[in-house]
Amino acid sequence: MSTIKLHKKYFNPFITADKIKVAIDKIAELVAKDCKDETPIFIGVLNGSFMFVADFIRAYHGHCEVSFVKLVSYNGTGSSGSVKQLVGLNENLEGRTVVILEDIIDTGNTLEEIYNIFRNKKLKQLKIATLFFKPDVYRKGLHIDYIGLSIPDKFIVGYGLDYDGLGRNLADIYQLTTQEMTNIVLFGPPGAGKGTQAEVLKDKYNLIHISTGDVFRYNIKNKTDLGTLAKSYIDNGDLVPDEVTIDMLKAEVDKNAEANGFIFDGFPRTESQAKALDKFLEEKGETINGMVALEVPEDLLVARLLKRGETSGRPDDQDEEKIRNRFNEYQTKTSILKDYYTAQNKYFGVDGVGSIEEITEILSKVFDRL
Ligand code: AMP
Repeated sequence: MSTIKLHKKYFNPFITADKIKVAIDKIAELVAKDCKDETPIFIGVLNGSFMFVADFIRAYHGHCEVSFVKLVSYNGTGSSGSVKQLVGLNENLEGRTVVILEDIIDTGNTLEEIYNIFRNKKLKQLKIATLFFKPDVYRKGLHIDYIGLSIPDKFIVGYGLDYDGLGRNLADIYQLTTQEMTNIVLFGPPGAGKGTQAEVLKDKYNLIHISTGDVFRYNIKNKTDLGTLAKSYIDNGDLVPDEVTIDMLKAEVDKNAEANGFIFDGFPRTESQAKALDKFLEEKGETINGMVALEVPEDLLVARLLKRGETSGRPDDQDEEKIRNRFNEYQTKTSILKDYYTAQNKYFGVDGVGSIEEITEILSKVFDRL
C-alpha cells in the first residue's frame, strides 16, 4: 500500500482490508448472538455502507433480510433550510428487529435523523452497527450497539467511503495527509557542509535526508538512464535540467510516505524547483517549515572542495574550474532562493564556519524552533 492521489489531495494507507475483515467478522458474530431466535432486517445507509453491508451479511450466519435506505436533502423554501428525507424504505417493519448498518459515525447528526425516522415504525427493537466510529467528535447521546473500529478524527476514504465521489472502490482505508511533517531545506553553496550536517540532523530529528546530488551519483554509479542523462551536467558542474531533477525529487519523497519529514539537501536549486516543491507539498497538505542556510565565504569553500576531491572521487570536486562553475551556477540560479524563502518568512541564516559539532549545535537551535 502506498500514498494515493484523489482529485488534488493525497491519502496515506491507514487500515488494511484484512483489519476491516476482522472487525466485520466480530460485529457479525455479536449481532448473530443477540438475534439468535429471530430474523433481523439489516438496513444499510447508502452510499457509503454498500461494501460494509455486502461483507457483513456474508459474515452473518443465520437468517436475515437486507435492505437499503438513503438520506436525501431537499432544499426547503422557507427558513427551514435543508430537510432530510429517507428514501427506499418499502418494508413493513412493525414488530421487527432492525439493525442499521452505517459505514461511519462521526458527529452523529445523520444517525440521529435516521433514529428519529425509525423510532415511529413500531419496531420490536432498533439496533445500530457502525464499521467506523470517531469518538472524539461524536456529540449525541444515542447508544451505538456495535462498533467495528474506533478511529481518530481524520478524513478517510476507501471501502465504500469517498472523497468527492472518488475512492469508494478501494479495498483498504486511506486517510487524508495533514501537515504533520517537518520539512527543512538545508541550504548553502557547494562545500558548505550540508551533507555532513544532514547526516547528523536526520538521526537527531528522525527525518529522511534527501540529497539530490547523492541520488544522481547513485544513478551514475549504477548506470541507470537517469544517471546517463545527468552525468555530463554533473561532471561539468552544471545544474541538471529542472524537469529531470523535480521528477526525481518527487519520486524520492513518495518513496517515504510514512516519514516524519525531510531534510532537503541540494534541492531546490532554482526558483522553478522551489515553486514545484511548494506545489507538490501543498497537494499533500504539507509545507516547508524553513530554509536553514549555512553561510560560508567562497574562498574557504574552494579550499574545502579541493581537499574533499582528494578522497571523494567526485570529478566535480577535483578541478578548480569546475568548482568555480558550480559557484557560478549557485550565484546565478540558486542564491536567489534566499529571497524566495525570506518572502515567506522562512529563511534562517547560520554561520557555517566552525567545527562540525559547533555547527550542528547552532543548526539544532534553529531546527528546534521549526
Ligand atoms: P551536490 O552533491 O549537492 O553538490 O550536487 C552535485 C551535482 O548534482 C550538482 O553540481 C548538479 O550537477 C547536480 N544537482 C544536485 N542537485 C541538483 C538540483 N537540485 N538541481 C539541478 N542539479 C542538481
